[in-house]
Amino acid sequence: MSTEITAVPMLDLKRQFNKIGAEMNAVLTSVNESGQFVLGPEVKKLEENIAKYSQTNHAVGVASGSDALLLALMAANIGADDEVIAPSFTFFASASCVPRLGAKLVFAEIDPDTFNLDPQDVASRITEKTRAIVVVHLFGQAADMIGLKAVVEEAEKKYGRKIFIVEDSCQAIGAELDGVPVGNWGDASCLSFYPTKNLGGAGDGGMVVCNDQTVADRVRLLRGHGMSPRYFHKEIGINSRLDSYQAAILNVKLAYLDEWTEARGTNAARYERLFADSNLADCIITPKTVGNRRHVWNQYVVRVLGGKRDELRAYLAECKIGTDIYYPLGLHQQECFAYLGYKAEDLPQTLKAAREVLALPIYPELTAEEQTYLVEKVLAFFKK
Ligand SMILES: *Cc1c(COP(=O)(O)O)cnc(C)c1O
Repeated sequence: MSTEITAVPMLDLKRQFNKIGAEMNAVLTSVNESGQFVLGPEVKKLEENIAKYSQTNHAVGVASGSDALLLALMAANIGADDEVIAPSFTFFASASCVPRLGAKLVFAEIDPDTFNLDPQDVASRITEKTRAIVVVHLFGQAADMIGLKAVVEEAEKKYGRKIFIVEDSCQAIGAELDGVPVGNWGDASCLSFYPTKNLGGAGDGGMVVCNDQTVADRVRLLRGHGMSPRYFHKEIGINSRLDSYQAAILNVKLAYLDEWTEARGTNAARYERLFADSNLADCIITPKTVGNRRHVWNQYVVRVLGGKRDELRAYLAECKIGTDIYYPLGLHQQECFAYLGYKAEDLPQTLKAAREVLALPIYPELTAEEQTYLVEKVLAFFKK
């Protein structure tokens, strides 16, 4: 019963709701009946479930992935006079947490194959003031943690002080490197449950996972105004608690996560075949996966060559095919970071990526017919 495809949305969460909506509604009803809406038993259960899923000792629910990043750096006591290295080719929140704490933000360059931090470039930017580095596992593939940790360990020896590694795993829940899940490579790892993420709630939510008890305790304290016991404030924290609604929904969805991740992987492999069969290698570069990694495909991002990205995107939009651009500008090019004094060409790989990348639909419910239709339209664009 093949129906003719006339549109392919970039993301369609209704398809997911059609499958598990009854379960989602049922848990929301029980949260309503419980009268407990902030933290509470559903959040505790989610923290346990996510710690188990990540194979980490601790997990602390917070209000968003952005807050998870801020809290991880707060837990590391980052402040004025400190330098923190982060990629420029990432979502804003990976880096905005640094100047928020009064520290100096230092942008590093990416490896063009994986869009993740280039360890050698990071090494060249470490100084005696470097106190932390934010490593993003972009699009769902783990960064080169082995290379990065070697660079960090060498610098720690040279300067005689610890460099805190924050993993930004907001796009990468379930991703692995050498069989070890993200969240176990740095000192703290940040998750986002924003609805477009692989494990998405019905609003904002986030989590910090880690193996160190001290880090977990500090994040727990800081997410609740630094208060312990009630109305006694040990330090100045923030209000960043996870809602019971979100946790309840996420507890339901977590049971499906591996199935969905597998479906994303199937879709990625299908794109790979469809593009190979279309002989589009001169026009489209498909994503590279590194051998020892489990890629969870939060995004399927191709490079469009020949300066044709925006034209292709407009053509696909005419065909009612949704695409997106992650990210159209390096953070070092953003107006709010102009004071840092970077020129666009200072990070040539980031600049090039920002001009070439195009994200295609990759959600688990996407059909083979929709993917075929999409690749046919890409081929039609380049042959016209
Ligand atoms: C989504 C995302 C964040 C922020 O998460 P929110 O929950 O939206 O605050 C941070 N970093 C990366 C790489 C992300 O993709």
